[in-house]
Amino acid sequence: MPELPEVETTRAGIAPHMTGRRIAAVTVREGRLRWPVAPDLAEILHGQTIRSVSRRAKYLLLATDAGCVLIHLGMSGSLRVFSGDIPPPLKHDHIDIALDNGALLRFHDPRRFGALLWFAGAPEHHPLLQHLGPEPLSDDFNPAYLRLTLAKQKRALKLALTDNRVVVGVGNIYANEALFQAALAPTRAANSLNAAEYAALVQAVRDVLQRAIAAGGSTLRDFVNSDGRSGYFQQQYAVYGRDGEMCPRCGGGIVKITQGQRSSFYCPGCQH
Ligand SMILES: [Zn+2]
Repeated sequence: MPELPEVETTRAGIAPHMTGRRIAAVTVREGRLRWPVAPDLAEILHGQTIRSVSRRAKYLLLATDAGCVLIHLGMSGSLRVFSGDIPPPLKHDHIDIALDNGALLRFHDPRRFGALLWFAGAPEHHPLLQHLGPEPLSDDFNPAYLRLTLAKQKRALKLALTDNRVVVGVGNIYANEALFQAALAPTRAANSLNAAEYAALVQAVRDVLQRAIAAGGSTLRDFVNSDGRSGYFQQQYAVYGRDGEMCPRCGGGIVKITQGQRSSFYCPGCQH
């Protein structure tokens, strides 16, 4: 499943090819995604200029003067830009957005949990976006914010960290890795950290996401004229998926527990 770093890498991969271009045509071959694609999407987008390609949480936002397109990659979605000879669509290539220079953005999603939505307004007012917490790499996500936000929350720290109302885009993998880096147990009460621990956690979240985005940088060319469908880059994790292995910090054993139906991996030896 694409996490925030993959979505940010996708944004960086497609933005140079989309920004400032006019939409020449939209083809919807399959509109039954997580939410139905607007039947009049082609009509709405025809002739619109893409002013910017940005990201909020795991949504990609194509801004036009009339509103914006929200794209979510769901479980298995990917985007590619084609130019020159456009290859014929393959199975699961559900939507094409053709641009005035002959290039084309193609949305591929075998499991169809992704979405492509039109919103005639500013994206921050969209119901899916308006209650989201701060971006993890923005200044709004800082130790004082986190301490205040979690002050009355006794639930497990890992559950708070993966809650989009607290901070967006910290998925299961990165929550596990950030808690390891900060030496905090995922089971700690969210409001039980001291100031230094909140600061360490904020820094750890930023570090793990930035490392992943940097790793994705090497895949940017794969977004153009490529059918690199797997798309999602592989990384080395310190604890994620490593239950039964030795902790790289203290040599203890990494364990796996379940929290909120998701797996948590941590080292009881050095995460407290
Ligand atoms: Zn350890």
